[in-house]
Amino acid sequence: MMGVKVTLLKLYSYFLYTLHRLVQHFHRPSEVVSALKKKMRVFSYLNRAINGYPSCSKLLLVFSVSCGGLVAYADSQSDSGRHSVEPNQIEPRKKRVVVLGTGWAGTSFLKDLDVSSYDVQVVSPRNYFAFTPLLPSVTCGTVEARSIVEPVRKLVKKRGGDIHFSEAECLEIDAGNKKILCRSNFNENLVGNNEFFLEYDYLVIAVGSQVNTFNTPGVLEYCHFLKEIEDAQRIRETVIDCFEKAVLPGQSDEERMTNLHFVIVGGGPTGVEFAAELHDFVHEDLVYLYPTVKDLVKISVIQSGDHILNTFDERISSFAEQKFQRDGIDVLTGCRVVSVSDKLINLKVKSTGVDTSIPHGMVLWSTGVGTRPVVKDLMQQIGQGNRRILATDEWLRVKGCEDVYALGDCATVAQRKIMEDILSIFKAADKDNSGTLTIEEFKDVVEDIIIRYPQVELYLKRKHLFDVMDLLKDSSGNDRKEVDIEEFKLALCQVDSQVKSLPATAQVAAQQGAYLSGCFNHRERCKTNPEGPRRFRGSGRHEFRPFRYRHLGQFAPLGGEQAAAELPGDWVSLGRSTQWLWYSVYASKQVSWRTRVLVVFDWTKRFIFGRDSSRI
Ligand SMILES: Cc1cc2nc3c(=O)[nH]c(=O)nc-3n(C[C@H](O)[C@H](O)[C@H](O)COP(=O)(O)OP(=O)(O)OC[C@H]3O[C@@H](n4cnc5c(N)ncnc54)[C@H](O)[C@@H]3O)c2cc1C
Repeated sequence: MMGVKVTLLKLYSYFLYTLHRLVQHFHRPSEVVSALKKKMRVFSYLNRAINGYPSCSKLLLVFSVSCGGLVAYADSQSDSGRHSVEPNQIEPRKKRVVVLGTGWAGTSFLKDLDVSSYDVQVVSPRNYFAFTPLLPSVTCGTVEARSIVEPVRKLVKKRGGDIHFSEAECLEIDAGNKKILCRSNFNENLVGNNEFFLEYDYLVIAVGSQVNTFNTPGVLEYCHFLKEIEDAQRIRETVIDCFEKAVLPGQSDEERMTNLHFVIVGGGPTGVEFAAELHDFVHEDLVYLYPTVKDLVKISVIQSGDHILNTFDERISSFAEQKFQRDGIDVLTGCRVVSVSDKLINLKVKSTGVDTSIPHGMVLWSTGVGTRPVVKDLMQQIGQGNRRILATDEWLRVKGCEDVYALGDCATVAQRKIMEDILSIFKAADKDNSGTLTIEEFKDVVEDIIIRYPQVELYLKRKHLFDVMDLLKDSSGNDRKEVDIEEFKLALCQVDSQVKSLPATAQVAAQQGAYLSGCFNHRERCKTNPEGPRRFRGSGRHEFRPFRYRHLGQFAPLGGEQAAAELPGDWVSLGRSTQWLWYSVYASKQVSWRTRVLVVFDWTKRFIFGRDSSRI
């Protein structure tokens, strides 16, 4: 009997302790109430169990009273929460940040954002991040698709789950009312609405770009693109289809040659890398599997400019052309594609105006980037309808609307020209209003000028000038004591020639994401303590320093274990050692250890066993 009592008493004390924890644990009193109700069910069970033990029943009574008290306390708390808290005691609502896109710009923004200060909602039709620089390797099976993607949910988990993710596409941005319309594309069998609205305080647009067909007829219907994982997988299947079709019985040699003619339109980095990957795939793997047609395979690159890789250093572009010539890859420069059909690609030779047609088995269209419909629509709303690409200022704020930021491929930074502000700069620097600037007065503003107008530094570098003061020297190269406004204008009038738009690369997108999260994290501090340059056209200082891109170099893999690289400081590196540099950089740049291991494993697997040619 004594033993039963002790056990029951232990149970009661545990029960009371649990109730105490419950009240501490749940923030909302209503949650306590519902949890207590569940516990009360246990309580009535205990009541039945101790029936017949009077002293235990007394204890139960005491417990019931205390439990009831707790419920009453919880209820009263819930009421007071609703009615009697002073307005100044309510915690201010966190600002809502909606991020569109989970590509390079979006994920880099989320990676460092202080999520405790914002309510973050991410919307993207893909629930993963794709490491796009390795997409060409996926087209030929050098690397598997799953090795270069990282689920967004993992990123969310890493950030302590304080980011909400919705797999949906943003269809419309209502910048006036600060809300967006989204739609998810789930299987129609699933119940529930696919469309929803989200309201924001700050909107970060990082939706990237889409392919640009330049309205060329037949491109959408008959060409492949290489922007998404699915595109790379489709290309891999089509390449194998072309080979399988070419070895079917009853084909003429002409038909086989047509099926095995792979045409790449666009001689930029993506087109060149794909051509190189395909060449390796064919010559290292497929020729042994399809020996009867190995001499019929042809790869052609069509480029409208005079050289392939024309955004790279000249040495790289001519190295690539020579390498392709040795490998038997045809490079047709100075040709514009006018239309594409299922069998032919029609070109105009720019220099002669002659029209010609080439039969093809597969065409990859890789010619620059275009604006997505949702961004085009926003541009119409905010008076940027006549532009090709959405413009932001140097702080990545979309021009013409409040609290909207755009980064990555979907936007361009419209760098302010120094000549537009020259009078204001002169006025701000001329402290004594004498109408001339002394060297000391100029020195006083020079740092702010360099931060606000990065083209000044680029100009100095281009002209091999070490000191900005050199700009103020007279035509014979002598130092001047002071300059008037006309001399000041003359000194700086060439500087704006260095304003260039940033390339549409992952490097730019990632740097912009990191920059913007820094601004968001320091928003409150910088309001009172601005860290940006002085406002020449207004008073005070800008809250933040403007975005500044740091070019870390770029690679062009050319196949056959050779690559070219443009490194910072105008260094160019070519050949096999550069390919090993490429391997190490791309392995280290992977977003997680999981993808790093998978990618290195895929490369090793390819070295040992070759690429897999199964069409799955
Ligand atoms: C084959 C290939 C190779 C490349 N190689 C290199 C390289 O070697 N080095 C380099 O620096 N750059 C490279 N790039 C360029 C680089 O991939 C892009 O510059 C970069 O992806 C741009 O980043 P982003 O975040 O702006 O766009 P993306 O990375 O394209 O991300 C856009 C995101 O927005 C989402 N989205 C699209 N529409 C909507 C919508 N309506 N609503 C919500 N979300 C939306 C997409 O699903 C995606 O998650 C390569 C690109 C390609 C295609």
